[in-house]
Amino acid sequence: MSVNGGNKETLLDIRGMEVHFETRRGIARAVNEVDLTLYKGERFGLVGESGSGKTTLILALLRMIKTPGFIAAGSATLDDGTDLLKLNREEIRRVRLKRVAMVPQGAMNSLNPVMRIGDQLMLTIREHAEDGEIPDKHTQLKQVEELFYRVGLKPAVARLYPHELSGGMKQRACIAQAISLNPQLILADEPTSALDVVVQRQIMQTLRKLQNELDATVLLVGHDMGLMAQFAERVGIMYGGKLVEVGPVEDIFHNPQHPYTQLLISSIPNFEIKGEFRGIPGVGLSLLDPPTGCLFHPRCPKAIDRCKSVEPQLKEVAADQLVSCLLHEEDQHAPAS
Ligand code: SF4
Repeated sequence: MSVNGGNKETLLDIRGMEVHFETRRGIARAVNEVDLTLYKGERFGLVGESGSGKTTLILALLRMIKTPGFIAAGSATLDDGTDLLKLNREEIRRVRLKRVAMVPQGAMNSLNPVMRIGDQLMLTIREHAEDGEIPDKHTQLKQVEELFYRVGLKPAVARLYPHELSGGMKQRACIAQAISLNPQLILADEPTSALDVVVQRQIMQTLRKLQNELDATVLLVGHDMGLMAQFAERVGIMYGGKLVEVGPVEDIFHNPQHPYTQLLISSIPNFEIKGEFRGIPGVGLSLLDPPTGCLFHPRCPKAIDRCKSVEPQLKEVAADQLVSCLLHEEDQHAPAS
């Protein structure tokens, strides 16, 4: 089931997505039967602990899962009917940047350390130009300067190497690369994780400005709930490779319905409750040996007997809010608090 999102048009419809990793100890289901609809022009935040599957999900959308990982099932269909999970190598190459782009987590790792920033962007422009339509070098440089202007970099940055840039500048260069072909969907994987809070805020403001200019959809992956609250319009919570709650950001923060979301929200440091740190009890699950029933039951303070044997499904519990918890399956409108 998908949240209808008012009158918004669907940009990407993910159904039954499964990403597995084959290990000597068995199969790890890193993304487990995920259904998610993204709407045109929205800012969606995907949250979860390390290993919850959020980064794997966006890597799968761009077909960047490396062996021993593989997409085991599902579809991810764009508004024109293109299923990202079924494209061949050449087809996905054409989709990247033009329709779906990624702002990576480690800017340094995604920039070529021995190539000037401007040359890297010009190479991107050339590589993705249609056959016979490669712009001349002067036009490429102008395009790079225009991209730099849009992300807040000076033209002189084109002559610099990655090691000559600060962390924030490197991330801006990556954003410039991501928007170089005006994508409709930007996948941002913890784009500010290595930056200080002031630069974080500036980068997120830039991303938001560009999202507005392009009328693009942004899927922001991260674990910083504060950042999500400021940026996202809707939020999805992942646990153990599954989506356990999806809803408008206000509802997720002020009226979370899934016990895991409730614990996540209550673990955010609060100025009003000083000296008390409330974490989530227990340890994260092992994907190689997941519990039966609800994956969260060993840590859930609200677990009932059935949780050990029955797997809950994502169901709509309020307008635009989906929750995967047996407490809501028993009484669709009963609050889980
Ligand atoms: Fe907790 Fe049971 Fe709901 Fe899972 S299904 S979140 S264990 S109450």
